[in-house]
Amino acid sequence: MATPKLSVVIPVYNEEAVLPTLFARLYPSLDALKIPFEIVYVNDGSKDRSVALLRQQFSARPHETRVVLFHANFGQHAAVMAGLAYARGEYIVTLDADLQNPPEEIGKLVGMLDEGYDYVGTIRQQRQDSLWRRSFSKVINKIREWITPVRITDQGCMMRGYARSVVTALNQTREVNTFIPALASLYAMRPIEVPIAHEERFAGRSKYSLYSLVRLNFDLITGFSVVPLQLFSMVGMAVSLLSAVFFVYLFIRRLIVGPEAEGLFTLFGVVFFLIGVALFGIGLLGEYVGRIYAQVRERPRYIIEGVLEEGTPEITQLADVLRERAQLP
Ligand code: UDP
Ligand code: MG
Repeated sequence: MATPKLSVVIPVYNEEAVLPTLFARLYPSLDALKIPFEIVYVNDGSKDRSVALLRQQFSARPHETRVVLFHANFGQHAAVMAGLAYARGEYIVTLDADLQNPPEEIGKLVGMLDEGYDYVGTIRQQRQDSLWRRSFSKVINKIREWITPVRITDQGCMMRGYARSVVTALNQTREVNTFIPALASLYAMRPIEVPIAHEERFAGRSKYSLYSLVRLNFDLITGFSVVPLQLFSMVGMAVSLLSAVFFVYLFIRRLIVGPEAEGLFTLFGVVFFLIGVALFGIGLLGEYVGRIYAQVRERPRYIIEGVLEEGTPEITQLADVLRERAQLP
């Protein structure tokens, strides 16, 4: 099979509501580019009819469609990593299935890659998300700017273009929990950012709860920087210095004024504050230890059940699994 110029990688998790529209908009907009392309869908253990729909689409456009099937839900970033590993194109564009970023904009990213940029980041115009999501992103963006070397304007949007060189570097990365756009921006030699349109999720629901957003952003910060740990030792140092000064002061006071037992509540206040700082520090250490733990276990990042692609025997091997799941209407 000839290598395509462009690979589009799409993670899919319970997206039966959007897939038909995605197909209807994505293929025409890629056909219009008039370059050889492939679309690599990675099904992240969907429990709805997504697999059936992907299979149907594979039958309709077998030459341009490849479907990687995970046997369970491994998360969006694992799915994108798998897609990148399977993608063969010279340019790779990652895209969400939910049509928040219009597939019609892919041409713009390809144009930038044609100009020799190896990382095309995106900035969402008139972001259509809930207010709390937007405010949360704003705060996190600031913190990330401040303590990590990652310089991207809008970290949230997954629609991005990468040159093969950057994807090769991504594929060599063995980190378990990572944040692909941030990592790629570190690997890129000629990055650029372009504005793109942003729409409301076409259908279905966001797969991210507040908890998973917080987790993801912890990964983004602890995965790219040890500044939190350093800040923490600084705080520790400042507190010890202050308490040393305070101790000397109290000692001298004791000699001059004699024994005193006032200020009990101030003492409680100070102690609670310090306990809080200490607990936060332990939690922070835990974040890093957790990362190391996940890393040394060396478990596979994902397990692939099978791949649907033109001319592979897997199709027959998979037939049973799929027949079971593919309850096409
Ligand atoms: N996704 C995935 N695995 C997950 C969660 C999400 O593959 O565990 C996919 C999902 O199908 C979609 C993309 O990741 O294509 C982004 O998800 P979503 O739109 O829910 O995230 P949001 O836009 O709310 O950040
Ligand atoms: Mg979305």
